[in-house]
Amino acid sequence: MPQDNHFSETRLAEEWRDLMARLSPPGRDLLSGIVHGNVRELANDFYDHMLADEQASVFLSSQQVHERLHASLQKWLRDVLTTADPAGIEGLIATQRVIGDVHARLGIPVTLVARGARRLKLRLLERLGGEGPGERDRQTAMLYVSQVLDLSMEAMTASYSRSHERSARSDEAYRLFSLMQNLGTERERQRASLLDWENGLVYQIATDGPLADVQDLSASTFGLWFTHKGQPSFGETPEIQAISGLIAAIDARLRDARAAGGQPAPRTQLLRGVRENVSQVKQLLGVLFEQMSELESGRDALTQLMNRRFLPTVLRREVALTLRARSSFALIMVDVDHFKSINDRYGHHAGDLALRSVATVLLNGMRSSDYAFRYGGEEFLLVLVETSEEQAWHIAERLRQQVAAERIMLPGDVPLQATISLGLAMHTDHPDYERTLAAADAALYTAKKLGRNRVERGSLGADAAASP
Ligand code: GH3
Ligand code: MG
Ligand code: MG
Repeated sequence: MPQDNHFSETRLAEEWRDLMARLSPPGRDLLSGIVHGNVRELANDFYDHMLADEQASVFLSSQQVHERLHASLQKWLRDVLTTADPAGIEGLIATQRVIGDVHARLGIPVTLVARGARRLKLRLLERLGGEGPGERDRQTAMLYVSQVLDLSMEAMTASYSRSHERSARSDEAYRLFSLMQNLGTERERQRASLLDWENGLVYQIATDGPLADVQDLSASTFGLWFTHKGQPSFGETPEIQAISGLIAAIDARLRDARAAGGQPAPRTQLLRGVRENVSQVKQLLGVLFEQMSELESGRDALTQLMNRRFLPTVLRREVALTLRARSSFALIMVDVDHFKSINDRYGHHAGDLALRSVATVLLNGMRSSDYAFRYGGEEFLLVLVETSEEQAWHIAERLRQQVAAERIMLPGDVPLQATISLGLAMHTDHPDYERTLAAADAALYTAKKLGRNRVERGSLGADAAASP
């Protein structure tokens, strides 16, 4: 794929260069004048238009974003429309690509971006239009505006789609992962409900009860789970198809036996047939659950914390919940202090034990709704949902104390103590979690600088995270 991207970007750059060559010098001056003279007004009009849209306002309501975006939109217009140096084109295209990635990360639909671009184009063309002297030059400028805006959108959309695909894949993996969280329980529960149904049938036959009282397997607890949860979760595998067929076969046997009335011979035949089919279902189900747990579990093997690859999925969802509920969540970046010297002094295996112990303390100290990720080698990231800054601070401080108090027993009864440094940052009404991550990271850095084994808060001040 990188080859393709490269190819399409080279092509876009060539087109852009052609357009530049076709723009007459007076046309360029005219366009420059209009852009520079109206850029603030254009941005105002753009945001008024977008904020009036319910879907768009979700992403734009935050004052912070509004202020920052306003300036970046103005810069974007100036860059895209008034750059005159052909050597700058590759850079401009790269910028569009970054913007597309940011849009994908924030979950801004591509249709919304296209609508905004259409609005800008309309306003620019209105200003460029008109008859009279200089009409030729006006036309070259209009052509330029129209083509260059489309070209920028194309570059943005290409990278948006790539990022979006990546997120979709990770969301899908996360879905499997959440199912696997309770895979063991699910397996036992379904085995039991299948057995319940079978026992019901056995009882009815043993006591000569009416077969009409026996539920179809497809309508039983097990059958409902299979249709609504099992099939979609496991996907269309041969085992799933075989189980479907067996359930239908069992229900057909029941129907036939009911039709045959209460004669003893068909009843024992029914029982034998059904038991055989049910045991096939059990066996196939066992295979399915087995395959599922062999899939990469999404947990880090050493610490049992969540794998970092699920972080974007989790944070995107938490950001959306936060925007909707006007709540906040906390990110806490954790790093083990002087971990290198633990490794050096006690060996890598002891280091691993220490990491596992720290991870366990962190996990036990959080609510079940919170998330703990292994973020890097000896770094962890905690996501405390629906938490105020004061609560988050208390939790962070408590975790720090608990880790420091923990005595890790190394083989040969060698006690080891470790400490952690923590950087805390709150995420409130902003659509981009990257800046909160950066703030937590900066706070961690401060905690290290100020002596380690401590918690520091980050501020979201004037950082220079993602642009538009
Ligand atoms: P600081 O207090 O500044 O964080 O010092 P530090 O020594 O912890 O920081 P640094 O980042 O320099 O060292 C981290 C070390 O962690 C380096 C690496 O060898 C070790 N490490 C990373 N992952 C693992 C792991 O999975 N197991 C073990 N045993 N060590 C690891
Ligand atoms: Mg580190
Ligand atoms: Mg460290």
